[in-house]
Amino acid sequence: MIEMRKGKEMKYPVPFLCALIILFFGAQTGLAGRPNSGYPKVTVPVIRVAILKGLRSLDIHGRDLSIRDIRSFQNLYESRTPSRVILKGEGNGIRVAGVLHKISLVSVTTTSPVLMINGKTYRGKLEIAREQDNTLTIINELDIEKYLIGLINHEISSAWNLEAVKAQAIVARTYAIFQKYKRQEDFYDMVSSVLDQVYGGTLSEDERARQAVNDTRGLILTYKGNPILALYHSSCGGRTESSKYFTGEDLPYLRGVSCQFCSNAPNYFWIYNIPLDKLAKAIASDGYRVGNIIAINVKKRTPSHRAYEISIVSDTGTITIQGEKMRKAVGYDRLKSLNFNVSIKNNEAVFMGSGAGHGVGLCQWGIKGMADKGYTYKQILNYYYPGTNLKKLY
Ligand SMILES: [Zn+2]
Repeated sequence: MIEMRKGKEMKYPVPFLCALIILFFGAQTGLAGRPNSGYPKVTVPVIRVAILKGLRSLDIHGRDLSIRDIRSFQNLYESRTPSRVILKGEGNGIRVAGVLHKISLVSVTTTSPVLMINGKTYRGKLEIAREQDNTLTIINELDIEKYLIGLINHEISSAWNLEAVKAQAIVARTYAIFQKYKRQEDFYDMVSSVLDQVYGGTLSEDERARQAVNDTRGLILTYKGNPILALYHSSCGGRTESSKYFTGEDLPYLRGVSCQFCSNAPNYFWIYNIPLDKLAKAIASDGYRVGNIIAINVKKRTPSHRAYEISIVSDTGTITIQGEKMRKAVGYDRLKSLNFNVSIKNNEAVFMGSGAGHGVGLCQWGIKGMADKGYTYKQILNYYYPGTNLKKLY
């Protein structure tokens, strides 16, 4: 599921499909000395995923390991045998195998099919970036199709009906392509967390995930020729949300649909109790002035019944907080969605809700329900993203 941040970073120029095609394939044409066959060689784009962040040091295992400074191409470490290297962010540099270098980005390559970092295995090329606070971010650069195979089982279960798994593969591919072009200036395209898509490395790959990705190779969802912002979530609880109330943008393919397909979701109904003083503390930590809470009321709801504005009456006055901000302050895992009613009982706030996630776009438990009823992945995608078209990018 994706819990996307709101605000400034959601404003972006939507990249055009033709620009993507030029970026992906343009470099493949007109190569020196290559006969003009008329058919450019099509390559799969790479995606750069921040897989671990905030680390003081890290432990890399591999065979024929090579570590280079990306700017100068200087070789900082090389070993022909299986070896283990410790990297540390330190004094505005990176310490590689005991030697400190004044650098901020290194590449790590191996001849092994996978690299092991902190006990997990990863495919493809690795880069290590030193952030301003001297912590390290590990970036895994890999073929987008391989990335998708490792992603499926962290988003849904590949044991679900294959039509549902294919729908998930296409949506995740579309989301990744969209982010790749939105974050061109950054060290990486995606973060492996609920903020983007959860990538679990090669350990979560299996045959069914591979089949769903291969069967839909290169397919993305587009609206008027452009890749869509393919938001998705765990379960909607009956109706998906309009992007207008989440990102602030009224996207025509994200206006919300009714969904009768996710009633088997584990969080279709949930209850969350929190002591009032704890709730006040959580909200206050986000900069609000809240005293002893007396009443909580949902002031405004979106058309899908989600809490848009909540008023909190305390002995220091009344504040209004946006639903999304409240979810963030309390915790996305605790306040599972904004589709809730709230009351106060025995000094506790009692939230009774339905569904999990922001509710925008595709409902993951809904696609399981639809596929089980015999819908194809094309019908499923057209249902949750009306007006969109599938395009084969490569
Ligand atoms: Zn649903």
